[in-house]
Amino acid sequence: KTQFRSFSNNKTCKPQNFTDYESIKQQYKPQVPEYFNFASDILDKWSEMEKAGSRGSNPAFWWLSEHGQEVKWSFQDLDIYSKKVANVLSDACDLQLKDRVIVILPRVPEWWLINIACIRTGTVLIPGTTQLTATDILHRLQASKAKCIITDDSLVDAVDLVASKCSSLKVKVTISHAQRGGWMNFQDLFRNAKEYHKCANTKSLDPMAIFFTSGTTGAPKMALHTHCSYGMGLTVNGRYWLDLTPSDVMWNTSDTGWAKSAWSSFFSPWIQGACVFVHQMPRFDSKIILEVLSTYPITTFCSPPTVYRMLVQNNVKSYRFKSLQHCVSAGEPMNPEVMVTWKKQTGLDIYEGYGQTETVLICATFKGMKIKPGSMGKPSPAYNVQIVDENCNVVPPEVEGEIAIQMKPVKPFGLFSGYIDDPQRTATVLRNDYFLTGDRGKMDEDGYFWFLGRSDDVILSAGYRVGPFEVENALIEHPAVAESAVVGSPDPVRGEVVKAFIVRSSTCISQDPDELIKELQDHVKKITAPYKYPRKIEFVKQLPKTISGKIKRNVLRKKEWEEKN
Ligand code: ATP
Ligand code: MG
Repeated sequence: KTQFRSFSNNKTCKPQNFTDYESIKQQYKPQVPEYFNFASDILDKWSEMEKAGSRGSNPAFWWLSEHGQEVKWSFQDLDIYSKKVANVLSDACDLQLKDRVIVILPRVPEWWLINIACIRTGTVLIPGTTQLTATDILHRLQASKAKCIITDDSLVDAVDLVASKCSSLKVKVTISHAQRGGWMNFQDLFRNAKEYHKCANTKSLDPMAIFFTSGTTGAPKMALHTHCSYGMGLTVNGRYWLDLTPSDVMWNTSDTGWAKSAWSSFFSPWIQGACVFVHQMPRFDSKIILEVLSTYPITTFCSPPTVYRMLVQNNVKSYRFKSLQHCVSAGEPMNPEVMVTWKKQTGLDIYEGYGQTETVLICATFKGMKIKPGSMGKPSPAYNVQIVDENCNVVPPEVEGEIAIQMKPVKPFGLFSGYIDDPQRTATVLRNDYFLTGDRGKMDEDGYFWFLGRSDDVILSAGYRVGPFEVENALIEHPAVAESAVVGSPDPVRGEVVKAFIVRSSTCISQDPDELIKELQDHVKKITAPYKYPRKIEFVKQLPKTISGKIKRNVLRKKEWEEKN
């Protein structure tokens, strides 16, 4: 434990950059103690350091409402408030160790307190996005067997509609100014809660949270994480990829419902003692993002590629960012063209990270490492990452295969425990001493990894294999393309051909479509291997996306193949 702490809480110097990749890899040898609790072992230590005057005055949590109101909390505030919330869970809600709690809230400060409180009480948190419908909520309550749900006014009706069908559900709590029959009121409970709370003595491998995957390829899966998988495993994200120290202010724009929020708005910054910055932002607006970056001393910014694609459509040069030093992106492949434009507009690089709900960071361009645009960087020191063939044999550099994490000699602690109530699916990904990501990629001679696509997204056309990403990257280099999604479409001769669904940029909407199609095809042929050019192009107003903004290529592909039959 001591060894881990001294590793993660080393505040005396800026984290070493990844210029010396091998030596950092060797340095990273955290030992998993038998007992670990993120609240008592990490957060409370920062609180003590703050009290002793050895952390500086940077807040631990900085929240901004859509109307400009602010909440600023220190680690000591988090300590006091989250203990009260822990008492709410244990006393008023009568929740016991390992009971499951679904929390569906927008970006409100209470969300962070409830997250900490769940850890303090050893109850298992299941975050959900506020965009869920009554049917989604029913499915999640039933599938997770949650005993408690915490939400706000916007979803109480939806919950009440389905609650009678959820036999495990015993407690409903709402964050609201109004009283509501059948619901406990969070504010009342908080006001009346005791301050003293004794943290649960959780084991490192006890269940901590269940995260739903994004649902890009089908129904979201429930990935179970332990106290140490994220609580310790995300050290790699915070220290080397996000490059955080106690004086940094980290803003990650993702919704509270996804593992990405746990990654970059909770564990990674707080492991490093940095400030978590949150903007309530009920609706996405690229102008708000640019204004907030210009007004607040945010040093580190994280958003998925879809957000950067929208940001670069603005006159970014007219903004002067206050303190921004480091930009990262994850969740989908980052388009090199967007990186180039962002750099021209802001002078800043975008450091890409690759991972899954089931994992911590798998690969990244760590701060200080040479960036190869289009590559996801090198494997995290937390994992031994390989490219393997269908028999789980490691393939040589430059050969395409599945991206896999080695589980030998021991299963890495920063990996999920399995999919809840789905041993079969768990067994398909934890196979032959590997965790198989379901993503295709290759490694180059320098050890950099290149993402080709999800296994189902790779297009097989007349014997050629085409990753959608390479075609999308070529297309976005053309000024008429704001965004695109490339899928395989049926073809009597070639089996399937490359088809691109394109959202045109506002300046090119009126151009003759047939002319533009020809122009775009010629453009792709010029900048990439000609066989990859999209033989079919369809212009669309928008692309189907998950709530978290990922392109659902499988929806487009399904439509293509169904139309044929
Ligand atoms: P589901 O598993 O429900 O279909 P999902 O896989 O999108 O959804 P997440 O766990 O949120 O759910 O996302 C992980 C996936 O996102 C990865 O497996 C990969 O396909 C993609 N991804 C994440 N980061 C990157 C990146 N930097 N480059 C390319 N792909 C990425
Ligand atoms: Mg997935």
